[in-house]
Amino acid sequence: MKQILKIIIHSLYTHPEIFLRELISNAQDALNKARIEQLTNKNFSGTETSFEIKIQVDSKTNTFSIEDTGIGMKEEELINNFGTIARSGTLEFLEELKKKGSGSEAGLIGQFGVGFYSVFMVADEVVVETKHISPNAKAYRWKSMGESDFTIEEIEKSAHGTKIYFTFKENAKEFSEEYRLENIIEKYSNFADFPILLNNKQINKIGALWRKKSSETSDSELNEFYKFITNDTEDPLGHIHLSVEGAVVNFKALLFIPKEAPWDMTKWFNEKGVHLYSNKILIQRECKALLPDYLRFTRGVLDTIDLPLNVSREFTQDGPFMIKIKNILTDKILKFLDDWAAKEPDKYKIFYSNFGPLLKSGINSDYTNRDKLIELLRFESSLKGKGELVSLKEYSMRAKSGQNEIYYIAGDSREALEKRPNMEYFRKNDIEVLYLSDPIDMFILPGISEYDKKIIKSIEKEDISLKPEEKIEKPESAINKSLLALFKEVLTDRVMDVVESKRLVDSAVTLVAGKDSMDREMEKMMKMMNKDYRSSKKILEVNMEHPVIKGMSQKYIANSSDPLLKKYVLNLYEGALFVDGELKGDMAADYVRRVNEIMEQAISSK
Ligand code: ADP
Repeated sequence: MKQILKIIIHSLYTHPEIFLRELISNAQDALNKARIEQLTNKNFSGTETSFEIKIQVDSKTNTFSIEDTGIGMKEEELINNFGTIARSGTLEFLEELKKKGSGSEAGLIGQFGVGFYSVFMVADEVVVETKHISPNAKAYRWKSMGESDFTIEEIEKSAHGTKIYFTFKENAKEFSEEYRLENIIEKYSNFADFPILLNNKQINKIGALWRKKSSETSDSELNEFYKFITNDTEDPLGHIHLSVEGAVVNFKALLFIPKEAPWDMTKWFNEKGVHLYSNKILIQRECKALLPDYLRFTRGVLDTIDLPLNVSREFTQDGPFMIKIKNILTDKILKFLDDWAAKEPDKYKIFYSNFGPLLKSGINSDYTNRDKLIELLRFESSLKGKGELVSLKEYSMRAKSGQNEIYYIAGDSREALEKRPNMEYFRKNDIEVLYLSDPIDMFILPGISEYDKKIIKSIEKEDISLKPEEKIEKPESAINKSLLALFKEVLTDRVMDVVESKRLVDSAVTLVAGKDSMDREMEKMMKMMNKDYRSSKKILEVNMEHPVIKGMSQKYIANSSDPLLKKYVLNLYEGALFVDGELKGDMAADYVRRVNEIMEQAISSK
């Protein structure tokens, strides 16, 4: 524990001022709990105190104290909350810090809030005096040097709440200056729900920003507010100010879209949400019931006068009232994004690259808004430069006349996709192909199956309907037939079929998936999820116009049992596997050996 504490103190040292933010935020939570207790508990026995946070600082004595009239702590809470620092949040913070290295502290502190222990950055010894709000609660004094053990004793204290005090360390003396603390409070806590008094003067002035008219809020206020509620260090990418007055629900909301995705989305989205207020009183932090999972990137506050304060958890989870709010918010956010996509494509692009994967997951979970979500999809495209994104609508609008399919190909990088033999036909004929590089797209696009009456198809499957005039509709010659039969014979166990290709231009052969099989990227993912997954057999398409194939026909006519033919077939097939990154282990060795044999023969025949 000592070591952990040292690391915390050391790694946070670049921002020791956050100790104040953490103490204020704890005091604020405690006040909120007390206020709700007072408003909802009929047997409330706490004193009718004013809810406020008092801070006293003295530069002559270097002393500091912060006092709240909040809920306070019972003895065991005091021990559990402050007695152990190996709490999960702290440990995760450290692990992440180790991974990211120093320099990333500021952002991480924002995401974790290492809490009370940050006071040991500025003080050697800290005293906490507290009394719980419950009737007949006793008061306690807790004292600790941080690194060593703590002591706890019973004391006399009249009001419920908590007081924390200490003397600043030598190298933290700057914080005993009143103006310095004033600046920090303005920076981090300007929107606190309760008055913060510094040496008896109220510092925070702004309060419930979401209750102001949107025309009366400035950008800098909004940015500051966002940082206050999220602990993010960056300004948000955008915000939505809502005032809804309806028959069923009335609410005001101030929602934000962050500029950057968090380091661990999954964790973040499980824990974050929009704060729920009832008439300016915080009811629930990070209320998850307010938004569908796929919109969890949204942060902010929602304040309604329709919700009773003593709202039960079940009520907030999925009561009709919450569902109504959720539907309205979803609708507004999707409209907002659609607007961005149309009018501020650069912003939308930033948003999409950060939160696109999450947003897309809604297509498979929210059938009511499925069509709207589909309009929000963006992809790279063979007709556009790297990094440029297109929508399905754009694709559909510029599709060639008579083209009733939307084509896509999936893979890790654009560069690799451009080189795939299956792209040749489309490139030659200027037919647009969407490049899918986000693995989630593979779960989304095939499921959409149709857009604007055009079937969505992977170009790595056998059943694409190439435009009739482009098809090479020559009757299959006898010799071609026999040659394909030879391919089939040699490759019996390895492929599903061998067919003449209508799409290859420069390559001799390519592998495609059967129309009922998954295409390659999908299979790659199945393999990642299940080691024992076996790929389905592919169809080998052969380009009859290719010089190598033509040469093989000549050889076949001269001597249909020439052993070289079999070698060529194997090498063409394995070459196609190689291109797909599927030539593994001893197959690769066999392949190279055969290539060398063929080269040897070519060299010696000269
Ligand atoms: P966090 O606030 O992230 O939970 P902290 O280390 O800051 O972590 O605080 C631990 C816990 O101690 C809080 O969750 C809260 O229950 C309790 N606590 C801290 N400060 C106060 C306070 N001023 N009044 C009442 N309880 C408090």
